[in-house]
Amino acid sequence: MRSHYCGALGTANIDETVTLCGWVDRRRDHGGVIFLDMRDRQGIVQVVFDPDTEEHFQLADRVRSEYVLKVTGRVRARDEAAINPAMATGEIEVLGKELEILNTAVTPPFQLDEYTAVGEEVRLQFRYMDLRRHEMQNRLIMRSKITTAARDFLDAEGFLDIETPILTRATPEGARDYLVPSRTHPGQFFALPQSPQLFKQLLMVSGFDRYYQIAKCFRDEDLRADRQPEFTQIDIEAAFLDERQIMAITERMIRELFKAVLDVDLPEFSHISHAEAMERYGSDKPDLRIPLELVSVDDLMQQVDFKVFRGPADDPKGRVAALKVTGGATISRKEIDGYTKYVSIYGARGLAWIKVNDIDAGLEGLQSPILKFMPDEVVARMMQRLDAASGDIIFFGADQARVVNEALGALRTKVAEDLGMIGEGWSPLWVVDFPMFEDDGSGQWTPLHHPFTAPSCSAEELTANPGEALSRAYDMVLNGCELGGGSIRIHCRDMQEAVFRILGIDEAEAEEKFGFLLKALQCGAPPHGGLAFGLDRLVMLMTGAHSIRDVIAFPKTQSAACVMTDAPGDVSATQLRELNIRLRQTREEAAQDE
Ligand code: ASP
Repeated sequence: MRSHYCGALGTANIDETVTLCGWVDRRRDHGGVIFLDMRDRQGIVQVVFDPDTEEHFQLADRVRSEYVLKVTGRVRARDEAAINPAMATGEIEVLGKELEILNTAVTPPFQLDEYTAVGEEVRLQFRYMDLRRHEMQNRLIMRSKITTAARDFLDAEGFLDIETPILTRATPEGARDYLVPSRTHPGQFFALPQSPQLFKQLLMVSGFDRYYQIAKCFRDEDLRADRQPEFTQIDIEAAFLDERQIMAITERMIRELFKAVLDVDLPEFSHISHAEAMERYGSDKPDLRIPLELVSVDDLMQQVDFKVFRGPADDPKGRVAALKVTGGATISRKEIDGYTKYVSIYGARGLAWIKVNDIDAGLEGLQSPILKFMPDEVVARMMQRLDAASGDIIFFGADQARVVNEALGALRTKVAEDLGMIGEGWSPLWVVDFPMFEDDGSGQWTPLHHPFTAPSCSAEELTANPGEALSRAYDMVLNGCELGGGSIRIHCRDMQEAVFRILGIDEAEAEEKFGFLLKALQCGAPPHGGLAFGLDRLVMLMTGAHSIRDVIAFPKTQSAACVMTDAPGDVSATQLRELNIRLRQTREEAAQDE
């Protein structure tokens, strides 16, 4: 129907007759001349109808916002005075000759011709309208460019795009499964994949030594922060490559994506160990644009009587750390109270602080509720270690190391945001040498990555000392976000069985759940490994969006529902009967119980 996109027109088209299809962004009547701003996915152009084209002029008079039009007209230069530098097509306009109304539209639920802040619930309910907005169009266009660039790269590197099942068995990635009841196997359920992990490993066993897939993954998590129950990964696996090679290829892919889509040359990727990341930043995905670091002061605090500090300092699992915020002495008491509340989300029971008003004045120059608990000598050595200067504030965390890291790690980011300390640009890095397992608090080991990750030691060493073992896993981090993670996998049955045992999965359960994998590992499984990137997060970072919901066409709300289609929804009694399912409670009864 169309000859050009509205937003693609420019001075090069002057005097051409064009046919445009799109929506009425805005209509204005200027003393007998009608101006229509017409919009399509490329942008907006001004179309003018004057009364000479009588029949079409009258139609133009009738159109309203969001009507769908087909317009034919001639492109002409605007008068000098009418040029609109704020508009990409602002040097030209289209003199309308013919107009056809392809469809009418009711008054839109929110204004689209200029930016208006609209509640997310309304945006999601009328998502098809929200997606007409310029910024949403741009984000999805960019998303498509990113996936295309990723496919081009991977294809050129010899990776094959292979699909894996959606109806499958559980693939543990640490979340709850979405289950689908089977009609043909009464009482049994499929699980939607938390990732294609096991299938991609099996593809390596089959000899497709380079695989990728832009894969939907499903995780039924409580939607803390910015998560979606279904999300997309660029999922990659390769055989006969070690971790260095996999990191090199995937790093090159991300570099090329940034170059192709944003024309950005990413700086060098630093490599830091998980232990160092926790020690210095309290996080396994540190934002290195923030010029603040955690400093351990356990040895100093072993010399104080103050129990709050002394206890964790003496405890092998404890940690006492300081976070010096340069220039932070201006932070008010009220703001400190706010930060204290903030760290309590992470389990911190308090937030001690010292303000350095005048470093040259010794103790006199310091202000803090905790100074009285510390020998002068300890305070002086601490100031030295932290290289404190007048105008700084120092925050302290003292607890189990996990709590201190999480709390001060999060505080580091929060304070930096509040004080505008986050540098510009891109800061990519690899975090490596993760521990294999963590203690879930009840003495049970859980994998830090997933149970198929290879350790960097032998099965005997692993079994003898699971808490000390490191894995061959790696995460790519960009500006404080985990962009992707992966590992070299276990490719021998013995090792996989050893890991299952450590995880408390006995032989019968291993056979029941992962028998197919264990068998495959005995059938000539090559050494292999891979990685998956979170596409939504990658697009969010590259488009500068603040939430992954803004880069997904039809996302779910925080309560994992779709307010537009009203999913999840009730099903009929017949459907339930076919599935052999009897509900214990109706939805209303369940709601009453809550
Ligand atoms: N399957 C992993 C995940 O979803 C990524 C990988 O190990 O390749 O986190």
